[in-house]
This record gives sequence, structure tokens and C-alpha cells, in this order.
Amino acid sequence: MGSNIILTGDRPTGKLHVGHFVGSLRRRVELQNSGEFDKIFIMIADAQALTDNAENPGKVRDNIIEVALDYLSCGLDPAKSTLFIQSQIPELTELCFYYMNLVTVSRLQRNPTVKAEIQMRNFEASIPVGFFTYPISQAADITAFDATCVPVGEDQMPMLEQTQEIVHKFNSVYGETLVSPKILLPENKACLRLPGTDGKAKMSKSLGNCIYLSDTEADVKKKVMAMFTDPTHLQVSDPGHVEGNPVFIYLDAFCKDEYFAEYCPDYSCLQEMKDHYTRGGLGDVKVKKFLNNVLQETLNPIRTAREEWQKDIPGVYEILRKGSEVAEAAAANTLDRVKNAMKINYFSDEELIKSQSLKYNAEA
Ligand code: ATP
Ligand code: MG
Repeated sequence: MGSNIILTGDRPTGKLHVGHFVGSLRRRVELQNSGEFDKIFIMIADAQALTDNAENPGKVRDNIIEVALDYLSCGLDPAKSTLFIQSQIPELTELCFYYMNLVTVSRLQRNPTVKAEIQMRNFEASIPVGFFTYPISQAADITAFDATCVPVGEDQMPMLEQTQEIVHKFNSVYGETLVSPKILLPENKACLRLPGTDGKAKMSKSLGNCIYLSDTEADVKKKVMAMFTDPTHLQVSDPGHVEGNPVFIYLDAFCKDEYFAEYCPDYSCLQEMKDHYTRGGLGDVKVKKFLNNVLQETLNPIRTAREEWQKDIPGVYEILRKGSEVAEAAAANTLDRVKNAMKINYFSDEELIKSQSLKYNAEA
């Protein structure tokens, strides 16, 4: 304890998109390379993905490699970060089982992210129990690795709060055992919850409104040119709105001033472009063309790296296998601590055997 440890991850429900990149992935790579962390665990949350995809296990299975390729192409380095698969660590399920006793049904029902996700999946009348309880399973994932820091998007805030409550409850009932994690949200407001290309509140694999890290150059361009913008900005001369306009939110998330000189020299910084759009006289097509160039700048190196990693798929699975071994050892350690604290360590507790024996054999 006393070390700096990261745990975060993604559900293998699809390839990773630019929302993941700005919400968490980009930050992870920076943190990984900062040298400030003793351990970094990056989890492919297949067991969690199955909680709302039980009837579609093929989707989850096939996307494990896609997420792993996205990780590696973005610069997560298996020499510095442990990449692993959730279902391969049975200790996580065991921890979750004990934590379930520390959480009430009404507390889970209040979780705003779960509420929104239930609505999105039309689960209202038939929520799978596993899905309903996934915040508890997430607390198991985080605490199993003694994570101090969890870099994620804003939608994960309720999960972190739930985890902190479980840690607090566990420690007060069984004694100081678990580490309470801190959430690390993106500093850039546009990255907290990147909207979809359709203008919906969140770019999400399940909504089909994504620009994927692995999309071809042509696909990215097509998606950008078809993006939702300001619906009141009908003519180029009309004044436009940048607030809530996904094209400008993406620019806030991805644009660097130096891109203007190369791709749009009429302006020297994003604020100038925004001012012109707000005044009127700047057309959506011009802004979208610029956004396309900005995104391609970010995505080109990722695409190139992916092409290399794709040549060695067995090697990528091997990285995950080795990572899962390392992760299991860490989780097993925590589970031992938890079982000792809960006093369900019957066979390794000599005091217990002695005292029970004394009850019946005074001389023992
Ligand atoms: P699903 O629809 O299957 O839930 P998802 O697109 O929401 O998929 P997750 O795997 O649930 O992706 O989320 C992984 C990480 O990416 C989390 O840290 C989450 O906060 C972050 N994230 C996901 N979508 C966005 C987004 N649009 N903007 C910022 N961060 C995001
Ligand atoms: Mg999600």
C-alpha cells in the first residue's frame, strides 16, 4: 500500500471510438508514460459486457481482440501496463459476491448511469440481475488491484461513488482492508462525455453514432461531413451556435492551434473560428473539412500502428494471457486480505481451531 495504482478498462462491445480516446485512453497513455505510477492495470471487461449481452456472446468474444488492438495502437505498452481480460480472474467474481451484502437494492436503483443505460436498452421490465448489479462488480475490479486512481469519462462518476461507499462500509465493518480510489476525469470539458456524430448526448458503441479509432480515412471523412451541427444555421450568412454543436465540441477536444496554419490559415486559433461562426458567414462545410483534417492528424498514427499489430494476432493474445496471469496474482492477494478480514479463513486461522477446540476439551 501507499503506492500509486491505476485500474481502468473498457467493455468489449465494439471497437473503441474517439469518445474513449479523449475520455480515458489518451490520458492513460500519458499517465503510463509519466512514470508516476507503480502499477497500471487495463482491463477488457468481457464479464461486464455479458451482463447486457448474454444472448450475444459472439460479439463480446470477437471484440476482445479489437479492443486490445486499439489499446496497443494508441500506445498502451505491455512492458509498462498490464493488459488483461476480466473473466480470466475468478477472484473478481468472489469479491463481488461478498460486496453484494454491503449494498442495498434501492441504492443501486438510484444510480443515474444505470438508470440511463436501462432506459437506453429498453430493459425497464426485464433487467438482468447481473446488469443491475454491475456497479458492485466494478467495485470489485477497482479494489482488487488496490487502485488509487481510475481515469474514466464522466458517466463513470456514479460507479466510483458506489465503490467508495463499498470500501468505506467494508473497512468499517471488517477493519481497514480496502483502498479507496479517486476518479480522474478529463481536464478538458469537451472530453467528459463526447457527444455522438448524431448530436446525441454520448458517443456510444451501443448507439451507432461513433467515429472508431480504426475507421478508414474515407469513413472518417464521410462521418464528419454527415455530422449533426447547429439546426438553426441554415444559410452560411446566418449566425450559428457553437454551444452544444458537436462539430465544435470535437474541435474543442482534438484541435491544436498549430493545425490552423496548415489546414485553415484564415484563422490562427479555434476562438477566431468560433467567433466567425457565431457572427455568421462561416459555412458548416468549411468547419467540417477542417475537423476532418484535425481528426485524421490524430487517427493516422493510430491506424498505422494498428496495421503493424494486426500482423501478429497470436502475439496480442499472448500479451493478454500474460497480463491476465499478473492480474490474477494481484487480485488473489487482495482476496486473501478480504477473507482474512471477514474471518472466512477457517483453515489458516490457528486461533479459531484452538478456541473452538477449547470449548469442548478444556485441556486441549
Ligand atoms: P457501451 O455502449 O457498451 O457501454 P461505451 O461506448 O459506453 O460502450 P464503455 O466501454 O462503457 O464504452 O466505456 C469505457 C470508457 O470510455 C469509460 O471510461 C467511459 O467513461 C469512457 N467513455 C465512453 N464513451 C465516452 C464518451 N462518449 N466520451 C467520453 N468518455 C467516454
Ligand atoms: Mg458504457
